[in-house]
Amino acid sequence: MVVGSRVLLAAGAACVLGLFSGRAAAEKVIKVHVCNLADVPAPILAKAIKEARRVFATAEITLTFRDRGPSQKFIFDPHKAPTDLFVRILPESLSARFSKDRTVLGFAQPVGEREFPYVVSIFYARVWARAKEAGLNPAIILGHVIAHELGHLLLGAEAHSLRGMMRCRWFADELTAAVQGRLLFRPEEAERMQAQVAERVTAARAKPTRTLLPAATTNRPAGAPPVSLFHGER
Ligand SMILES: [Zn+2]
Repeated sequence: MVVGSRVLLAAGAACVLGLFSGRAAAEKVIKVHVCNLADVPAPILAKAIKEARRVFATAEITLTFRDRGPSQKFIFDPHKAPTDLFVRILPESLSARFSKDRTVLGFAQPVGEREFPYVVSIFYARVWARAKEAGLNPAIILGHVIAHELGHLLLGAEAHSLRGMMRCRWFADELTAAVQGRLLFRPEEAERMQAQVAERVTAARAKPTRTLLPAATTNRPAGAPPVSLFHGER
């Protein structure tokens, strides 16, 4: 995710922020584990998570969040399921190891051919700075950056669109739409994500402790290239 010169983001989180109930909802539930390495204050993280959940709810996908504190060990848990996603919120010291371009706000980690992508990293200091620069609520912007990157895990690296949540660069219009609750996934993106979630749920039931896909299937849309480290412009 790259932000234009006039765009921004921000977020925060705490414990389990959302639980789902009912069988119908369970069909489209993704568990999101937040690894808060940037020491994002709990109220900011909670607000950001609330925004990300709201955005996905408009796509009829339920996200449940669990605060994993500053630990990353859960990311490497061999027992994680295809329905487990990880949001790694990084301080600038770690963000710079991935990209020194401060317009880059995050990325979705590439995986092997037969794996479901499961990790995104968010460059928190940059999100915060951009939000403050635009005079916007950093938590709300952070929530939308998280939603964008999680969108890549379900839509693929080449999922950018010319408008909406999956636009590569966010300018004033996107930021304004975000704080007004109008920056959302497009209907066709929602449908694709729902299909991907259903595939992950099925895989989780078949192999609940593995992220590997059945040999004959792939997590990516037909013809789509692998997830790239830094999608979009740098
Ligand atoms: Zn992107």
